[in-house]
This record gives sequence, C-alpha cells and structure tokens, in this order.
Amino acid sequence: MTRYVFITGGVVSSLGKGLASAALAALLQARGYRVRLRKLDPYLNVDPGTMSPTQHGEVFVTDDGAETDLDLGHYERFTGLPASRADNVTTGRIYLDIITKERRGDYLGATIQVIPHVTNAIKAFVLDGNDDYDFVLVEIGGTVGDIEGLPFFEAIRQIGQERPRGSVCYLHLTLLPYIPSAGELKTKPTQHSVKELRSIGIQPDILLCRCDRPIPVDERRKLGLFCNVRESAVIEARDVDTIYAVPLSYREAGLDREILAHFQMEPEGEPKLERWQNILERVRNPEGEVTIAIVGKYTGLKDAYKSLTEALTHGGIANNVRVNLEWIEAEVFEREDPAPFLEGLHGILVPGGFGQRGAEGKIRAARYARERNIPYFGICFGMQMAVIEAARSLAGITDANSTEFGETREPVVGLLTEWMRGNELERRAAESDLGGTMRLGAYKATLAEGTKIAQMYGDTEISERHRHRYEVNMAYRECLEAKGLRFSGTSPDGLLPETVEHEGHPWFIGVQFHPELKSRPFEPHPLFKGFIAAAIEQSRLV
Ligand code: GLN
Repeated sequence: MTRYVFITGGVVSSLGKGLASAALAALLQARGYRVRLRKLDPYLNVDPGTMSPTQHGEVFVTDDGAETDLDLGHYERFTGLPASRADNVTTGRIYLDIITKERRGDYLGATIQVIPHVTNAIKAFVLDGNDDYDFVLVEIGGTVGDIEGLPFFEAIRQIGQERPRGSVCYLHLTLLPYIPSAGELKTKPTQHSVKELRSIGIQPDILLCRCDRPIPVDERRKLGLFCNVRESAVIEARDVDTIYAVPLSYREAGLDREILAHFQMEPEGEPKLERWQNILERVRNPEGEVTIAIVGKYTGLKDAYKSLTEALTHGGIANNVRVNLEWIEAEVFEREDPAPFLEGLHGILVPGGFGQRGAEGKIRAARYARERNIPYFGICFGMQMAVIEAARSLAGITDANSTEFGETREPVVGLLTEWMRGNELERRAAESDLGGTMRLGAYKATLAEGTKIAQMYGDTEISERHRHRYEVNMAYRECLEAKGLRFSGTSPDGLLPETVEHEGHPWFIGVQFHPELKSRPFEPHPLFKGFIAAAIEQSRLV
C-alpha cells in the first residue's frame, strides 16, 4: 500500500519545508523504502518559468523539460532520483487545464466550481502514478492560512478521508521562536498555526518544530496538549551548520521512527546513513579552501542560484576543500576595472541569466579570466558571453553581440528557432509566448575526442539539461576556432554548439546547458569537480 505524507508549513515562510521534505525522503530511502516527492504550488503562474529569480528563486528544470519549483532540486539532490513534470503543479496549471476543458465543452453544461472540480483535479494529480512507491511525500507550498492555498488543503483533507485508514499522515512544520527577554522557546505561534489547520479540517499527526535550542520537556508537553498530538510526535528540528546534516539530525530527533509508528509499521533495523555521514565528514573537515567569484545578475537573492551553489559545494566535496563564494554584481564591471575585484581569486564563474543588464560586465569577466589564465566556467549565458568576448577581442569582430539585446550586425549569439529532440524537429516562432517555449530539458551532446571537456566527463556522449532561447551562431565557428576557441561539443547532428573551450588555457569551459542541475552530493558533477580541481591548482600559484 502506498502511504502519503502531506507536509504543510505554518507560522512563517522560509522554514525550509522543501529541505525538510527532501531530508525525510532521504531518511525513508535509507531504510530501504521507495519514495517519491511532489510539490503543490498555490500561486497562479502556470509554472515558475516566467517568474523572476530574485522573487521566486531558481527555476529548476527536469529531464523532461518542465520548469519547476526549486524545491525539486532539493528532492533530486537528497534522493538521487530525477524529478519529472509530474512532480510539480500550480494553481495556474490546474485552472488552465480546467478552463481549457470547459471551453471545449467537456463538462457537458455543469457549473465548474472550486469544490469539486478544482479539488478533484488536485487530488487526481496527487494520486496519479504512485503504485510503485512505499511513500509519497507531498509538500504544499506557502503557509496555512494563505487564501490561495485553501483548495490544496481541502484536497489533501479529502484524500485523508478517502484513502484507507492509516495510510495518510499530516506533518506540519512550524517555528518555535526563542524570546530572549522571557528566556523561553515560545509555543503560541505553533498553537495558532495548528488551530488554523484544524479549522479547515486537518489535524496534524506530527509537528516538526524549527528551533535554535533543545525543546524543554514542559514545552513539548504543552505542544502535545494544545495541538492535540502525541508528545513523541513533537519532533525537534534544530538549526544545523549545513543542510547535509539535516537527515542525520532528523534521525536523531526520531522523525523516521515517529512516521513509521504513525503508519503502524515496525522499523526493520537501522537506516543506512553512511553516505550522509561521509558527506558531512567531508563538508565539516575540508583540507583546504578555494574562493570562486560568481559574476551574476541576481546576486541579491542566493536562492536564485541554488543548484549552482550546491554543485560548487559538491565540487568541493569531491576535492576535499571548502568552496568560498565571492558574489559580484556583473554591472559593477561596466563601471569599474574587474582586476581589483578578481585578483587573488581562484576561479570565475558566470552563470545563466537573461537580458542585457550586466552583460557587458560578464564579458569583461570572461576576458579577464582568459587573459590572466584563471579557471573560467561559463554556464549558458556565461558561455554566450565568453563567445562574444572571443569574437570581439580575438577575431576582431568589434560589433559581436547577442540578438537577445536587440538587433545587431554581428549576431554571434542568435535566436534559436528549430532544434531536434531525438528524431523530432521542435520549432518556435520568433514572436511566441515567453512561457514554456525555450529549448528545455535533457538533450544529448557529442564531445570531440581529446578536448578538455571530454577529459572531464571521461566520455564523449553526454546528456544535460537546457533552458535557453538563444544559441551561439555556427556561422562564426570557423573564424573563432582559428583563434583558439574550440567548439568542443555539439548536438549529435552537429548543428547546435553545446560547449566551447579556449585551447592552451588551463581551464576555460563554456557550456550551453546547466550541469548544476544534475550534481549530487554523493555524485559531484564532473565539470564542477574539474573546475574546483583547477581552482586548487590556481590557488597554488597566487
Ligand atoms: N538568456 C540566454 C538565452 O535565453 C541564456 C539563458 C540561460 O542562461 N539559461 O539563451
């Protein structure tokens, strides 16, 4: 029987519900269970693809080309299981489907209502395709009490009634703030949050309480009494120094034990957590450190580059070093010389991005890395800017630019309108909608033998995830290759450039895809591993 755990949040946002869900999944996985994670997002966007990363954080792309919530990245990194389009849904998507059906006349004259039509669509989404799993963990975005979350809460309440007894668990993540003047952890916000949940018919079974110190026995008792949960089901989720400590700390606090007890399952032995112990050991005891500059555009909100910073940490784990990050707003380099900012750093990374703001600064960063022989990693936009840089400085094409910024006489980077997915030709009109029309998801690429990138992968056939509307223009290939910028990887049909590298440079690689999306703590991505290894070499020189 598939068991459902619904994870809701209360009191405040940003308590790390996604991470909590991912860590719980890792813990159940460590007990040998088959686990699936899904996310319900109450906002009205059809997907987060069109949302600003500075508001909503990174857009995580799945193999099958869905633009999803960044929590799916946590899910993948903690479980190693690839997420798919079917793991994330929003209010916008649900309504879009319902309204499309309504216009087609599929409802045969019925009045379409939130209950039952919207709630049924949510339930159908949640319950679909779960037969092969022991546990399905479903996270509901936002906090209890949000108006837009109501249909989702109602749907999961109904699921609790309709599924067999004992097959559904409601887990509520809350905050116990410490009030210094009282010298106490306060339970009242949690009591109110649970009251809110109960008023819409959901009685939580387990409380996962974020706190910065141990929960005293009295407070635990009080929470049990006022929130109507067992004392043993009040689980402490204490702050930890690194996210990789979360599965182990939940284990210590007894979360897996309590979940199994709720489902009346006997724990068989101990969970196998060695891989988490190993990672934690490496993260906490590095043998050295390197500092990487990230020259980007959304540096104000670190969540905008979530997978990227995680992948850099993984590169550090692979090389046994701590990776320090120096965040630099690319626009700064449009006014000032990059040298004082970048001198003494061990690697420069220009990540993905959209739009003209900061582009010239990124081009200057690429130039600095190329001229000074500093390891450079250009991801998507970061590759495009490196190619423009090479065209301007090495090939003398002074007007080289991207059509993303407007018309240009030298479209070294241009709009992508046709590409192959396997044997299928995919097309996009220049004036198409912005949502969901990019080249999205996993595509194969072929790397040329003997290139640095092929050496990094130890392979010449790879598959990586994409999210871009523009591409480097193959018409410039010959003249750029003549100047030492090698087009080291292409799509299997040879038509689209996928990777570039400067010959004779210690480590200068640009990739049109997003390798950070596939890195895992136990399986660091080869490019991040290689980039950090090159940064270590660089640190020996400076
Ligand atoms: N803006 C660029 C494009 O659409 C790069 C996108 C990205 O970096 N993900 O092609």
